[in-house]
Amino acid sequence: QQQEAAYEKAMDTQCPFCSVQCTMQLLEQREGGRKKYKVLPLKETVSEARLCIKGRNAHQHALHRERILHPMKRVGRHFEQISWDDALHFIKEQFTSIQEQNGNDAVGVYGGGSLTNEEAYLLGKFARVALKTKHIDYNGRYCMSAAASAMNEAFGLDRGITNLVQEIPYSRCIILAGTNIAECQPTLLPYFQKAKENGAFIIALDPRETLTTKLADMHLKVKPGMDAALVNGMLKVILDQNLYDLSFIEERTNGFEELKEHIESLDLNEIAASTGIQREQMERAAVHFATGSTGMVFTARGVEQQTHGHATVRNFLNLILVTGNIGKLGSGYGAVTGQGNGQGGREHGQKADQLPGYRSIEHPEHRKYISKVWGITEEELPGKGVSAYEMIEKMDAEEIKALFIMGSNPLVSTPNANLAESALKKLKFLVVVDMFLSETAKHADLVLPSSSYLEDEGTMTNMEGRVTLRKAARSCPGEVRHDWQILCDVAVQLGKKTYFPFQSAEEIFNELRVASKGGKADYYGITYKRLEKERVFWPCPAPGHPGEGRLFTESFAHEDGKAKFLTVANHKPKEQPNRQFPLYLTTGRVMSHYLTGAQTRRSPALAAREIESFIRIHPSTARAFHVQNHSLVKVESARGSIQARGLYDESIREDTVFVPFHWGDEQNINKVTYHALDPVCKMPGFKVCAVRIAPVVDL
Ligand code: SF4
Repeated sequence: QQQEAAYEKAMDTQCPFCSVQCTMQLLEQREGGRKKYKVLPLKETVSEARLCIKGRNAHQHALHRERILHPMKRVGRHFEQISWDDALHFIKEQFTSIQEQNGNDAVGVYGGGSLTNEEAYLLGKFARVALKTKHIDYNGRYCMSAAASAMNEAFGLDRGITNLVQEIPYSRCIILAGTNIAECQPTLLPYFQKAKENGAFIIALDPRETLTTKLADMHLKVKPGMDAALVNGMLKVILDQNLYDLSFIEERTNGFEELKEHIESLDLNEIAASTGIQREQMERAAVHFATGSTGMVFTARGVEQQTHGHATVRNFLNLILVTGNIGKLGSGYGAVTGQGNGQGGREHGQKADQLPGYRSIEHPEHRKYISKVWGITEEELPGKGVSAYEMIEKMDAEEIKALFIMGSNPLVSTPNANLAESALKKLKFLVVVDMFLSETAKHADLVLPSSSYLEDEGTMTNMEGRVTLRKAARSCPGEVRHDWQILCDVAVQLGKKTYFPFQSAEEIFNELRVASKGGKADYYGITYKRLEKERVFWPCPAPGHPGEGRLFTESFAHEDGKAKFLTVANHKPKEQPNRQFPLYLTTGRVMSHYLTGAQTRRSPALAAREIESFIRIHPSTARAFHVQNHSLVKVESARGSIQARGLYDESIREDTVFVPFHWGDEQNINKVTYHALDPVCKMPGFKVCAVRIAPVVDL
């Protein structure tokens, strides 16, 4: 305590790095002309005063000397500082000229899942009202789209977790499918440890061993991309052994007979052969899940970022519905979100097909309502655009000629990243709003400096749908502006002041509340005043409403109140290993880095833990390809190649290699990953592709 009292300044803030949204206090002290910092977790409801290493060191990037502090314009191969007035004038001149010559849709907008709710909302409005373009999508397309479309279709509503994280210890059986919670959301892990202490049986699906699979009672090392088939196997066991919850199915669901007929036609031995999971293991997992009094399923990108990601998640939801494991304490589904505001970022209209409050851009009544809120006519509201990767393709085809990027680094996060680079180079005008000169920003014609989490004020929504108010801990350095201010400034320059009169994040939130009113993600009853005292769950349709923590207790969000089953084929990934590329590649995260690493690679403490990328290879596979442990290895697919350090790993499948995705340039594994899209949600097949490996020979 004496040590803490010695600090001069205390700033309450919230970690920007994952959807748990842990809160903390940053203490500052000047010592011999230098500032030193200490981070203390704050006690709050979700992470129970825990912080992981990312949260403890988040301030290091926000205070980093490479922060961009003023607008910068490209002059030849370099950037030069310019004034905000000149920057805004430059944008107007370029966007206006390009749109006059090529139509409004020649300009695109690309957002991010780490923006605050206010910024995500305003970005959608900015694209449709200020720029009048249909081309807007965001990096969350690569993150949550499969889980979102599957939940919408099955339950009629998409919210990350259908109940509270505090209910996890009450679950008797938990399936963790393609999620590495121990490294990606470490402060959630104690909830699962508590569940295990309480007697829960934990089943993990992952082609390799991780800190999360080590917690599990059963680790199913499924063949990459065969998760949907594995769930079909479990469904078959449950139906064959009459372990399903018939009264729940009859009262609360539609489509069971079709599912039953489909599952009965499947062969368990064939599924075992195709998934690499023995029949006995499938039977044991299925019996545990179906006979536990409560059960939860958590999915993440491992099973979602597939060319059949929508159907795969749908099958996990079938498993939940067949066993009646939803709408009660300790039972439900969770899509474990990676991005800081992955939940809120997908609710307010920065998706190509979406308007605020989860409204559809194609629904006449929804268009009418939002047009009225925005003060435009329905005819003026653009229609549906295309998904993030399809926007990249349109840029490469020179249909989209200018792009405005806010809160994203698509050159590193896009699959088939060589195409993304080619596409960015073809743009006539690229504006990037960022804190750093990221790999993408280096290609920009204009870079605008944006605020960090320490300077932002605005709301965020965690993976449970709990809305929180993040206050500014310090003022913006240099000429940095908030993202919402930048959007208003550009809109005003484009002559749209009437629609963008906002002077604070709270004013934007108050318009967002009205825009969401009556929608599925209804924030109308949530105010800044209320958020000063509590975190509030949506849907919250009126000021006195308590918000809904646990969803679907009585009915689902479809019109008839019932959930829907879907029959799912034993899908195989679209790209399979072959003679030329004989191994599977799968990708993922490490604990000390976040997304493309643009922030965490600039945090000395985090960067020191993982200074470079690596390739995990089973030793017998490595030997077959003449790869030495710790030597440099080339990983190559039909799209491109990278080089990274090879690390032997006895725990990974022999037919699979693993590479993390937090590095750019020569270590950017997305130069190798697969870009084919899921037909429903347009999620690219990041997680499974065919590669070959070879030692890098030092000439
Ligand atoms: Fe909490 Fe996630 Fe930040 Fe870690 S990264 S401190 S788990 S919000």
